[in-house]
Amino acid sequence: MSVQHEPAVAGVGLSAWMAPHLAAPAADPLADGETCDLAIVGGGLLGLSTALHAARRGLSVRVIEARGLGQGASGLNGGQVIPGLKFDPERLVGHFGEETGEALISFVSSTADVVFDLIRTEGLDVPSRRGGWIFAAHTATALEAAANRHRQWSARGADADLLDAAAIGRLTGAAGYRGGWLDRRAGVVQPLALAFELARIARAAGARIATGTRVTRLARQAGSWRVQTASGATVKAAKVLVATNAYSDGLVPGLAQSLVWLNSFQIATPPLPDGIAAGVLPGGQAVSDSRRILIYYRRSPDGRLIVGGRGGMPTPTRTLDWAHLERAMTRLYPALAGVSIERRWFGRVAVTPDHLPHIHVPEEGLVAVAGCQGRGVGLMTALGPRVAAYFAEGVREALPFPPTPIRPIPFHSFRRVGVAATIAWYRLLDGLER
Ligand SMILES: Cc1cc2nc3c(=O)[nH]c(=O)nc-3n(C[C@H](O)[C@H](O)[C@H](O)COP(=O)(O)OP(=O)(O)OC[C@H]3O[C@@H](n4cnc5c(N)ncnc54)[C@H](O)[C@@H]3O)c2cc1C
Repeated sequence: MSVQHEPAVAGVGLSAWMAPHLAAPAADPLADGETCDLAIVGGGLLGLSTALHAARRGLSVRVIEARGLGQGASGLNGGQVIPGLKFDPERLVGHFGEETGEALISFVSSTADVVFDLIRTEGLDVPSRRGGWIFAAHTATALEAAANRHRQWSARGADADLLDAAAIGRLTGAAGYRGGWLDRRAGVVQPLALAFELARIARAAGARIATGTRVTRLARQAGSWRVQTASGATVKAAKVLVATNAYSDGLVPGLAQSLVWLNSFQIATPPLPDGIAAGVLPGGQAVSDSRRILIYYRRSPDGRLIVGGRGGMPTPTRTLDWAHLERAMTRLYPALAGVSIERRWFGRVAVTPDHLPHIHVPEEGLVAVAGCQGRGVGLMTALGPRVAAYFAEGVREALPFPPTPIRPIPFHSFRRVGVAATIAWYRLLDGLER
């Protein structure tokens, strides 16, 4: 099945992950009147990882994806597998209290292990490299934050180093950093391959996956769920997972209004010529920098440099909409001036007001998860077995953090306008700090 990312914009939209040899596994079209133990809405990393583990626990599983596999954030992202959340451990303990906070820290600490172990133990055909992730500090304040993060995670056993300006320069080859934090637990994957391979082994475990099928309504009926789709087919499911994240629509009342989705943009060079390649991320790490509107980058398995960062709120329509990333790239690597950009694409990142991922159980047998703030590759893959255990055993403790009520953001549509203004302001401040 060929993959097309929405919306089609002339000359842009193709991600660097799409390759002629890479094909999604076959789909299992939905028949009207099917029944299952668990219906999963959304075929991203969360939906597919949950499907795999639920099927292995003996549940009959139906995944229903509106578009193609990996056409949500899961096949479009930067492929950086970073453990932890945006908040450091002490902040999480402060927010959740000692017991829940430590349980959450232990879970988020393991998310990269889950991804790389899965690839290894299942023999997945997913190009990957566990070379670490660098938080790169461009100001003295950011370097202090890096040191603080290093202290907190090292105290919890993370294999990590604090980097000075010389060390970060050697590892990244990039100009302009004062230092940073290297977390060796992290690494990179080819994200679309990960989504396809998860789908393949989920199907092998018995899960059935329908694509091109939008779920339009969920209704509770006589103790089970009636899952209605745009094609007219309905499914009767004992339980339902809504794994639609930043692409959530009106299926679960208030869910889409409980988060703000932002466009994250990426660009990719062609495979870099040897003379230039040696000076670009020679250490093989992934990097996110400390700017308010952060820039993240990595090398791809075929030798491209891939640079990502927040984009504008409107849907991009021309290559110029990615120009800020090209500027960032040549600021970091002046030697890349004049190197062409071969791919430009974007996807949605779900951000919640408290910057934490949320699990909701709005009704019996219905779970929704949303809001991974750009950290979902590890987080959503690792949540899969936990959510599957929750469905199979019905025990709240299976979940790594407690479900919360869905809280729609007041004046939600204005919030997006506010976010757009904040991004413009932050970009200006970042520019002044260069
Ligand atoms: C450009 C970009 C770069 C990123 N970089 C990174 C990174 O480097 N590292 C990292 O950890 N995270 C990154 N992220 C975040 C990460 O990709 C996401 O957190 C993660 O993929 C979310 O997975 P998911 O399964 O929850 O959602 P998704 O993969 O978005 O899947 C949701 C699916 O639900 C489907 N859907 C929606 N409504 C319906 C419906 N009504 N019926 C049926 N299907 C429906 C959608 O079509 C979609 O396929 C990035 C995100 C983007 C967009």
